[in-house]
Amino acid sequence: MTLTEKDSQYLWHPYTQHKTSQTPIAISRGEGALLWDENNKEYIDAIASWWVNPFGHSNKFIADAIYKQLTTLEHVLFGGFTHEPAIKVAEKLMEILPKNQQKIFFSDNGSTAVEVAIKVALQYFFNKNEKRTTIIAFENAFHGDTFAAMAASGISFYTQAFQGMFIDVARIPVPVKGQEQVSFDALKAVIESHNCAGFIFEPLVQGAAGMVMYEPEALAKLIQICKENKVLTIADEVMTGFGKTGKTFAMDYVSEEPDMICLSKALTGGTIPMAITTFTQDIFEAFYDDDINKALFHGHTFTANPTGCAAALASIDLLQTAEMQSNIERINKNHLNFQKKIENHPKVITARTLGVIFAVEIKSDSEESYYGSMRTKLYNFFIEKGVILRPVGNIVYILPPYIMTDEQLQKVYLTIEEAIEMV
Ligand SMILES: *Cc1c(COP(=O)(O)O)cnc(C)c1O
Repeated sequence: MTLTEKDSQYLWHPYTQHKTSQTPIAISRGEGALLWDENNKEYIDAIASWWVNPFGHSNKFIADAIYKQLTTLEHVLFGGFTHEPAIKVAEKLMEILPKNQQKIFFSDNGSTAVEVAIKVALQYFFNKNEKRTTIIAFENAFHGDTFAAMAASGISFYTQAFQGMFIDVARIPVPVKGQEQVSFDALKAVIESHNCAGFIFEPLVQGAAGMVMYEPEALAKLIQICKENKVLTIADEVMTGFGKTGKTFAMDYVSEEPDMICLSKALTGGTIPMAITTFTQDIFEAFYDDDINKALFHGHTFTANPTGCAAALASIDLLQTAEMQSNIERINKNHLNFQKKIENHPKVITARTLGVIFAVEIKSDSEESYYGSMRTKLYNFFIEKGVILRPVGNIVYILPPYIMTDEQLQKVYLTIEEAIEMV
């Protein structure tokens, strides 16, 4: 039996209708921006394996750091104990995060980072004897698949089976160009009509919605409105964090600082699942009390796993090298050139770029659903050509590892141009 045949006997894949989906491709190794399947076919990983891998597959620098940690202290419980790798990660993040972030809490993945932030927002007001139970989120947001994260997410077919079982969420439009005032007004109206605890948002780029982009000034205004009304703000940087937007964090473009930040995905360079939620001192102090009931009773078994921490430290070191920073700029320049080339194509609605993120919307005769027929056609075309891209409906986006070469990038662009001609 091939790996693919054995897979279908035992495995259940994410976001997959097994009855109608194609069989998965068995990948056996990776190096840099490339992956090889069990038949040795080569693929360019143009989406960094779901946005986690900025420094390339099988990165030796991170692997060495992980090995060293594994053979020193692989794991220890974090309840009642601490260790140097966790403390070093905290020190490192304090250097690079917005200055008001003072406390960090570890968990395992983007959804749990969001789950922690939402629970903290709700308990913050509970601890202060204030009744505030609504969370504000954007339309078409994506914050993860656990319950509170799913409640905050606005992509309906991910969540339709669970409607009516969620925490209170009020939704506002994204302040895309021309819609800023509509978004500001909606936020004010929601705050007036609900007891709002927090506002969660993907700063500047909504990833899962198809790399929908909006301006830092608009986000700053929304945060100001929240601050005037004592609504806590949560920047979900799970996708945007660690260089994707061209700065270390998307919030580095924004003049207002959020109360909490969620981090995961590229945090460990795509090696070990780990996440962090960060907080202001004010939030921490709402839980700091002689009364044990005011504590945050939340934790995960693998909290602050030392091996994950070692991977995060090595990743942040790599991100901060001059070489990696110039890679990010190089990819951005390439994207902008490609955008210029393609945005006036008769089959293109619009193209956009921020940092290493590029997206193009392709014209389609029918309303294109998330997993619609154009999407399948595009996806199969890319796979056949050896380029891993996962279109969102009629939107094709690129989010490459920063080490992708110009040559590989040109092949990705060319394949997208061919795909646009094909559909
Ligand atoms: C991917 C993602 C999440 C969820 O992260 P998981 O690790 O898949 O649970 C949350 N928020 C954003 C913005 C994401 O892109």
